[in-house]
Amino acid sequence: MHQHTLAAEITQTGVGLHSGVSTSVRILPAEPGSNRYFVRVDLSNSPVIPAGIAVVNQTVLSTQLGTDEVYVRTVEHLLAALAAMGVDNARIEIDGPEVPLLDGSAQAWTDSIAAVGLVSQPADDEQKPIVIQEPICVNQADAFVCALPSSETRFSYGIDFELPAIGNQWHSWSLSRNLENTFVTEVAPARTFGLLHQIEYLQKSGLIKGGSLDNALVCGPDGWLNPPLRFANEPVRHKILDLVGDLSLLGKFPVAHFLAYKASHNLHIQLAQKILELF
Ligand SMILES: [Zn+2]
Repeated sequence: MHQHTLAAEITQTGVGLHSGVSTSVRILPAEPGSNRYFVRVDLSNSPVIPAGIAVVNQTVLSTQLGTDEVYVRTVEHLLAALAAMGVDNARIEIDGPEVPLLDGSAQAWTDSIAAVGLVSQPADDEQKPIVIQEPICVNQADAFVCALPSSETRFSYGIDFELPAIGNQWHSWSLSRNLENTFVTEVAPARTFGLLHQIEYLQKSGLIKGGSLDNALVCGPDGWLNPPLRFANEPVRHKILDLVGDLSLLGKFPVAHFLAYKASHNLHIQLAQKILELF
């Protein structure tokens, strides 16, 4: 059995979406069996925060790991890139509380991972993937996320917005058919999006301090404020990116078809917690 880690370290620097704080992230190769984990190198004793479901402590508009004192926020795009590209073990050093949003997508992460490449690591005690045998669902009104029995690991997503520029969109991406790294071309480039009428409220609530037209697509009643889009259905592809990142907190992806509709980080994490309780 083999695991993988990065062949060399990579770094990215930028502003966090919610905190507005600029941080540097340095991702280093890590030992077999160590999984993906964060290290807050700016704090005394450099506390370690594992990238696991057990330490999720907030899911308001992004996924935050750790405790109220020692945390790392907006981990989902970076973790999606690592997990989807097969990086099992990684030490992610960060000198602040939030992962940089960069251009709002995972492209900078996938580009830097591809640039250094992976190395194979022998692993004797590799955990077997969870295989979903019966449907498992969580919902909030008509929003839901389900894990359905499937021969492959697939992620499908639907969204529905009144704004005509977004409307109803669906997309599906299979990890099991990722041999040509379709994640890099079809999912990773999809950027964070926001709705113009919610932005003022979010700013007043102390959120999205680092948000701008350079790192998020913004949609108003008359269309996109900062076109062009990278895909006609870029918003729903971004939701797949978020779902992949959140479910990567399970460690190895279960064998299942994950089907989500109008869901949120909160529902993604609820489903992952339910899967952990059952397996
Ligand atoms: Zn996102």
